[in-house]
Amino acid sequence: MQAIEANLKRYLSAEQRLNEFFGKLNYCLSYCIVPEKRKNGDRPVAACCQNKYYSICDLPHPAFERLRQEREQRFGKPEDHVWPDPVSPCQYHDPHLGCLLTTHKSPICLAFFCRQGIDHLRSRYGIYTYDYLGFYYALEWILTGDLPEQEYESFMADIAAMTARLQQPCA
Ligand code: SF4
Ligand code: SF4
Repeated sequence: MQAIEANLKRYLSAEQRLNEFFGKLNYCLSYCIVPEKRKNGDRPVAACCQNKYYSICDLPHPAFERLRQEREQRFGKPEDHVWPDPVSPCQYHDPHLGCLLTTHKSPICLAFFCRQGIDHLRSRYGIYTYDYLGFYYALEWILTGDLPEQEYESFMADIAAMTARLQQPCA
């Protein structure tokens, strides 16, 4: 149990660092949600939240179970959220505000970044290191305890370096 708590703590630190990165980047809202909504007659869109990814991608592992418990304590169970005008099968997707989970997201949701977003990182900031699948697996291994300490430190340093890079756009 102690190991699971330690894994979760490390996972949440990585999540915080990724949230800071994506918060500073501010790509999804400006470049995707707002224009997609406009194209959709000002109606809400689901963008990439097209499934209950927390349910289909999470591993049957006690650390994932622990993450889910803490998530539900903070944000409620998925079935607690019923939207009159849903746009996504994921119950955590508020049609007007997007994902309710400001923390305790599943690895797949936390890591995912679409092709257009990754192209933006490359062309605008010269960031070539965002590898969505690599980040997804690293986050899974942090939770399961399979990512060695040295690799964890390197993963955290990579996110910090990408975040610092956002201060220096290419053009
Ligand atoms: S990851 Fe891509 S598809 Fe998903 S919200 Fe961001 S820009 Fe849109
Ligand atoms: S949990 Fe959040 S990020 Fe993941 S699919 Fe649902 S709304 Fe999207």
